[in-house]
Amino acid sequence: MNINVVIVGHVDHGKSTLIGRLLYDSESIKEGRVEEIQKLAEEYKRRFEFAYFIDSFDDELKEERTIDTTGVMFKSKKNLYSITDVPGHKEFIKNMLTGASHADVAVLVVAADEGVQEQTGRHAFLIHMLGIKQIFVVVNKMDVVGYREDKFLDTRNRVSQLLASLDYHDVQFIPGSAMEGDNIYKPSERMEWYKGPTLIQTLDRVQITNRARPLRFVVQDAYSVNSERVVVGRVESGTLRAGDEVLFQPSNAKAKVQKIEAFQCELPEASTGDSVGIVVDKEVKRGDVCGLMKASPIPVTEFLGEAVLLEQSIRKGDKVELRCATRRVQCEIKEIRERINSETGEIMEKHPFSITENDAAIILFATEPLVVEKFSEIPELGRFVLVRNRNIGAGIVLETTN
Ligand code: GDP
Repeated sequence: MNINVVIVGHVDHGKSTLIGRLLYDSESIKEGRVEEIQKLAEEYKRRFEFAYFIDSFDDELKEERTIDTTGVMFKSKKNLYSITDVPGHKEFIKNMLTGASHADVAVLVVAADEGVQEQTGRHAFLIHMLGIKQIFVVVNKMDVVGYREDKFLDTRNRVSQLLASLDYHDVQFIPGSAMEGDNIYKPSERMEWYKGPTLIQTLDRVQITNRARPLRFVVQDAYSVNSERVVVGRVESGTLRAGDEVLFQPSNAKAKVQKIEAFQCELPEASTGDSVGIVVDKEVKRGDVCGLMKASPIPVTEFLGEAVLLEQSIRKGDKVELRCATRRVQCEIKEIRERINSETGEIMEKHPFSITENDAAIILFATEPLVVEKFSEIPELGRFVLVRNRNIGAGIVLETTN
């Protein structure tokens, strides 16, 4: 089984060391090539502490792609693991925009000597926003606190409270030392009080269930050919079948899918990622999104999003263009709930009047009726770009309200 793991945690709590340890102990590195691990760890660290903002957004997207292809991988006896990271808020948002790989599970690293720090909470929140349901905690640097159980329990209590507030319950906590190799890949003999699994045993037990996602077909274009209404678009989630009864929103047009076509062939169905033409019996508009009648998209006029501003400033009451999938609408910045430091995730101000370049923020947007989805549920319809002459920011949908 292939499992994508995202490793998060406060800076210097031991993420790179943990990855080095996993690679080394799983013998993913050939003998005599320890320097390779160091290089990978260095590389990982560089990525983690990357100077996030270079001049052009496009360049960054390119950069992001090259980074994606250099993912770190290792094999246990059971699984093949790919490791990614959520380096900072801006990186995170960009990952969302490029649709970078989705993580199945998250490992939160918390150093036993420092406990919960700023990014511990922030990263846990990001993981929750990403919709990652499984999280494990490594209480690292146990060697620094003399492998003491009370120190482990202190940290576990604090982190448990934090995770419970994000709806993560019964989380597996592993006391370990990435540096010394305790309980990461090999069981430790220095913490007899701990009877639980190592990190790799925990990961090897992961079950991945593919959630069935509802159909969302996004209309790119609609026209008539020989009195047939042809709609061209992309299946962003779920499966579309000939004969399906669907509802297009925000047009509120109920229609029957008479035919599905691609490259002049008729198809019985189209699934996630397919671009197809469909013939329907109703008029629909570019930017509409359809779903099956029983789980159709609901247009909203307000939603809560988290955005990062790449340039310029925005103030409460401003109007900016919002692009989501193929829709472009004018939206109003109705409320700015929090201004967030996009490097550290720290909340800088509650209810500020404005935010500026490089800030992240939780914003309540008001729009004309628009189909968006929570990013954690349907990411393709849960990310957006803000435009005022050019791209000034990007974000994800946290909550849809009406
Ligand atoms: P990152 O910023 O989270 O990737 O942290 P690093 O892996 O770079 O580790 C930060 C520092 O902590 C480095 O000096 C590591 O050698 C050290 N470190 C990492 N894990 C451990 C550990 O288990 N025990 C001890 N004593 N030091 C560790």
